Amino acid sequence: MITTRIPPSPTGHLHIGTVRTALFNYLFSRHYKGRFVFRSEDTDKARSKKEFEVEIIEGLQALGLTWDNTEEVVRQSERGEIYRRYLEEGIGNGKLFLSQEESKQNPGETVEVVRLKNPNKEIVFNDLIRGEIAFDTTELGDLVVARSIDDALYHFTVVVDDHEMGVTHVLRGEDHISNTPRQILIQEALGFERPEYAHLPLILAPDRSKMSKRHGAVAVAEYLNEGFLPEAIINYLALLGWNPGTDQEIFTLEELVEQFDIAKVHKSGAVFDRQKFLWINKEHLNRLSDDVYLGLLKTALPDSITSLSQYDDERMQRLMPTIRERINIFGEFTDAAAAGEYDFAFAHPDVDPALLKWKKDPDLTASEVRLRAVYELLQNADFSSPESIKAAVWDYAEKEGRGEVLWPMRVALTGLERSPDPFTVAHIIGREDTLHRIKIACDKIGE
Ligand code: GLU
Repeated sequence: MITTRIPPSPTGHLHIGTVRTALFNYLFSRHYKGRFVFRSEDTDKARSKKEFEVEIIEGLQALGLTWDNTEEVVRQSERGEIYRRYLEEGIGNGKLFLSQEESKQNPGETVEVVRLKNPNKEIVFNDLIRGEIAFDTTELGDLVVARSIDDALYHFTVVVDDHEMGVTHVLRGEDHISNTPRQILIQEALGFERPEYAHLPLILAPDRSKMSKRHGAVAVAEYLNEGFLPEAIINYLALLGWNPGTDQEIFTLEELVEQFDIAKVHKSGAVFDRQKFLWINKEHLNRLSDDVYLGLLKTALPDSITSLSQYDDERMQRLMPTIRERINIFGEFTDAAAAGEYDFAFAHPDVDPALLKWKKDPDLTASEVRLRAVYELLQNADFSSPESIKAAVWDYAEKEGRGEVLWPMRVALTGLERSPDPFTVAHIIGREDTLHRIKIACDKIGE
């Protein structure tokens, strides 16, 4: 059965590169109704941390990339006996050998390392993305595969684990290409079947250097905190190095499983494009029902909004279409809301009377007359939608001049130089408050 794997090293936060590799392995195995397995490559004792392992496992699963061996976490640090068994077997049949050497870490001390007897040949393997790759392994010499019989090194543990876990396809980053011939030598020494290999293109920053922290966020948690949706993260990462060859760019995970084809993975590096990522997130946001959207939006609300005197659910619900139209990620709403851009929806603005003056008018007299007219028109207007409010005022605005009427109306309602149009604002805050705010503005002019 086709079996792929994701073997992260828990030495840092869950990185988008790890998610992309996990995703391609997931898609490939699910497409063929195969297995997908996880293991934690925690042999670097100094750098591996439990909390990173938890973050990686929970993060991948939260994105929907679930694996089949969930009974217990396979950890390399707990498999010393298994590696020892294979080391002994290899030594027994002469493919590996023990060698007394001076310790590199503690000069002067003698250690007994395990080396592979290098057959000194060319290793040729077929990469599913790059085609045939040949390596002369002579220069590798008799490589060390274990620091001692109880301390197998990385390449050895990977080979043993992939074999023991039934891995048939190894899809991993291009940075592992040079590891592959070493690992094949070890496989051959242990008499294992060779899996298929595919080396995925690197994720590049816009300047085409390898994507790293200095180019922006690389940790998945940072994107989630900014308000990117899990389904958008999956969608965008799938397109980093792959596309189905059609115009489709928005995918659910199920659609990706259906359409994924390793033959369509690109050879060249995939440039990370935040603008495109934002666009994809917006597309996924637009697919959410109003209920789901509102629920998520509320979790992105800063306290500065929820503590406003007129904050309530209904206003929030009526504000939502405006936000839907404007934002790509919830973080944009959080930032704008924290900067006060949406306070008008939930609190009376502190209107600067001077701002009520339309630019073509000599003074505030005309604004007051027009505001009073709008007040009358809105008293019995239909407030069920921005359009119905507009219908009540529009003839008058056309007659008097749109800016002449709509500018003071909007400023009276929001106190802002820039905001959504006055009909949308009136709809959000409702009739009573709309009339009240217009009256306050007129009174201020009167003073
Ligand atoms: N533990 C390795 C890493 O996190 C993965 C090695 C592999 O895929 O073979 O980069």
